[in-house]
Amino acid sequence: MTPHLAGASMDAAGMTADDERAHDDDAWQDDVRAGVRHARDLDSLPLSPAERAAVPEAAARHKVRIPKTYLDLIDWSDPADPIRAQVIPSPDELAEQDGELDDPIADHEFSPVPRLTHRHADRVLLFPTYQCAVYCRFCFRKESLTSIGRGFSREALEPAFAYIETHPEIREVILTGGDPLSLPDKALAEIRARIEAVPHVRLLRIHTRVPVALPLRVTSGLVRSLQGRLMVTVVTHFNHAREITDAAEQACRTLRQAGFVLLNQSVLLKGVNDTVEVLEELCRELMYRLGVKPYYLHHGDLARGMAHRRTTIHQGQALASALRARLSGICNPVYVLDLPDGGGKVPLGPCYVEARDGETWRIRGQDGEVRAYREIVSDL
Ligand SMILES: *Cc1c(COP(=O)(O)O)cnc(C)c1O
Ligand code: SF4
Repeated sequence: MTPHLAGASMDAAGMTADDERAHDDDAWQDDVRAGVRHARDLDSLPLSPAERAAVPEAAARHKVRIPKTYLDLIDWSDPADPIRAQVIPSPDELAEQDGELDDPIADHEFSPVPRLTHRHADRVLLFPTYQCAVYCRFCFRKESLTSIGRGFSREALEPAFAYIETHPEIREVILTGGDPLSLPDKALAEIRARIEAVPHVRLLRIHTRVPVALPLRVTSGLVRSLQGRLMVTVVTHFNHAREITDAAEQACRTLRQAGFVLLNQSVLLKGVNDTVEVLEELCRELMYRLGVKPYYLHHGDLARGMAHRRTTIHQGQALASALRARLSGICNPVYVLDLPDGGGKVPLGPCYVEARDGETWRIRGQDGEVRAYREIVSDL
């Protein structure tokens, strides 16, 4: 039994809310303390000589942080371990390519005030912090996380709150970053209260890797800080079935029992999850074990130093097509590309329409056979 589950049974034995909170808090803080917090903490790990040599330069470009329980998922005997590939700096990160970008999806260009991006009329991204519980090597915001790097402060968010208040078309506020769930409960409660006080906002969305990388942080106090008037959706970021542990399961159960809607977005990463078997297992376990609906599968974007993790779009389309054939509708994510220059996220397939001749469409079935479909539309 994990310490967290032991804690849960003690709750049932009648701990007070404060005891429970103190216990929960300790569990995840130990996980942070015992993990990798600085590049120098990598010294004691069995990195390859090439990885070790790349650490100073790679860590200067993008911070290193790995909670202990996530670190413990690494099988060090496997140089291609999918957890290691996501969090241990690689010498390949130093090989930047022409055309790679600091801001691959134009967060800055569509930022009318600091800490907010408004590209689609009905929803905004709000960045309450530029810090994370884990730093993923492939992060497309790594440039902001390095150059801005700041945490939460009430003053820093005031212009963003004022913007939301004066734009009645905004219905969803998406907390992202940085990782919003790396903030203390008190900060989250304050942010939630400010947003729910705006009558036109309907839904609070939280994009987070905490249920994956620091699941013990999902405490009853965290849940309470988010509960209020708004519909809450938590969008997790699992990339591999190996990340779906007992602790992650408990974290997702806590979030579901709080009444939150759970979705997942994954990034398609070469050497991590670019096979149909890995993606199929990931999507099934997300839905069937965690109750988390696979939402997006993101094509690898143009973040700097990430050529070694990118698949081609053609490979991604083949994977998406195979998933469509193998997985139920609710287990299927949509394969999308977030276009540079603010073009937004667009589905890249699979596409089943082969041709059109007037009112007759030629459409490929799930069995691979192309069939004619004649539209019959009344013009009365
Ligand atoms: C991804 C993103 C959203 C959310 O898009 P959905 O398709 O609703 O998940 C909103 N705003 C910006 C700027 C984004 O990049
Ligand atoms: S948790 Fe999200 S924002 Fe933070 S480094 Fe990972 S991908 Fe980037």
